[in-house]
Amino acid sequence: MTPAPDTGRTAEEMREVRYLRAVIGTLRQELVTERKLVKGFEAEAAQLRSRLLQAEKGGEAMRARLLIAFHDAIRRPLGVTPDSGAEFYDPRMADEAEERRRLARAGGRHAYQPHKLYPHFCAQCGYPEHEALMHLPAASGGSDQKGGDSAA
Ligand SMILES: [Zn+2]
Repeated sequence: MTPAPDTGRTAEEMREVRYLRAVIGTLRQELVTERKLVKGFEAEAAQLRSRLLQAEKGGEAMRARLLIAFHDAIRRPLGVTPDSGAEFYDPRMADEAEERRRLARAGGRHAYQPHKLYPHFCAQCGYPEHEALMHLPAASGGSDQKGGDSAA
């Protein structure tokens, strides 16, 4: 460290000045570090905004394709998958839809059966458990997990 010019200060005052200069130097370094961190966070936030925007556009495009496929599907004979719906076709879901159709035609209710992936909805009809038009009242002495055909 360069010797301080003669300022007429006492030795204790000079120690205080050196101490304060050291503190100021440390704070300046911390400020530089903080500014770099802020720039990093800002860049990260910009990337996340960009990815979110892309995801939103992807979701909108998916919704548009689904709507087209849906309307094509309801104008086809039963069981015919339109080309626009081919990417969404799932044999298991088609079987579930067929089961819902069968139940609706029979007007029958069944025991609520929680879906494996969406346990708040019924595996057979897709409605929530409290939907009384589809589901039999919960049995007081144990529930029938099989459900299926209505006894009504
Ligand atoms: Zn159901």
